[in-house]
Amino acid sequence: MGRTRVVGIAGRFRARYGASIRKKWKEVMERRYAEYQCPYCGSVTKMYRIAFGIWKCPKCNSKWAGAAYTPWTIEK
Ligand SMILES: [Zn+2]
Repeated sequence: MGRTRVVGIAGRFRARYGASIRKKWKEVMERRYAEYQCPYCGSVTKMYRIAFGIWKCPKCNSKWAGAAYTPWTIEK
């Protein structure tokens, strides 16, 4: 294996999937690891994803069903 290129979180995909899909994936993953405000205790923190669509707040241990890659559907 060569050195890992500095392309952020999408780096592990290297040449697979194509550039546009990697870019989209990177956006999704960055949102996934972004900080969100807990609807239960109000803490702004990194939410923990237990399973596909199931999220947990590390502060108050509340669990809820959200979107697949983000704690809830992001409104634009
Ligand atoms: Zn909470």
